[in-house]
Amino acid sequence: MDSENDAPVIMPVQPAAAKLNKANAKHDAKTAAHDKKVAEETAAKEAAAKAVKVAAYEKRIRARVTCDKAAYEMQWRLLDGEVEERVIAVVVELLQPQHYDDIQTERALDNCCGYIRCANTLPRGGRARYQISLAQRKVYDVEGLHRFCGVECARASHDFAASLSPTSLFLRGGAEAVHIHIYI
Ligand SMILES: [Zn+2]
Repeated sequence: MDSENDAPVIMPVQPAAAKLNKANAKHDAKTAAHDKKVAEETAAKEAAAKAVKVAAYEKRIRARVTCDKAAYEMQWRLLDGEVEERVIAVVVELLQPQHYDDIQTERALDNCCGYIRCANTLPRGGRARYQISLAQRKVYDVEGLHRFCGVECARASHDFAASLSPTSLFLRGGAEAVHIHIYI
């Protein structure tokens, strides 16, 4: 028999502290791995939430641009002549009072009655500073009247402007409606 092989195998005895340290190190490594995983998952969730937010923001911007573009295109269609009845409902849907006010001014600058349902040209010559309707005891300021062929159109146009919503189409959630109605 080989005396070397017969020698008892002596396992190194680890001191208790060393054993504990090893266990702690293993635990720490496990905890660190877990923390890393949680951090990665949190970051991924945050990135996903941000992506959703950005997508929603982009969608809102696109909808707003669509609405603004529709209003702008409609304004162009109203700059001269008598606007057809069927278009009026769309105008009411798309435009706000300030859009319509710009239209009245632009039409008048082009010597056309500011009221979109009227095809008359503006009367030649100036008007008095005020025109007084004795029948109705109303005073119409020329600043408002000068854009129309007559008092009736001024009143009708004023009433039409008052029927428009001051809230933009976008805020009324009407971006989808634009696609349906703009190409009438
Ligand atoms: Zn008129």
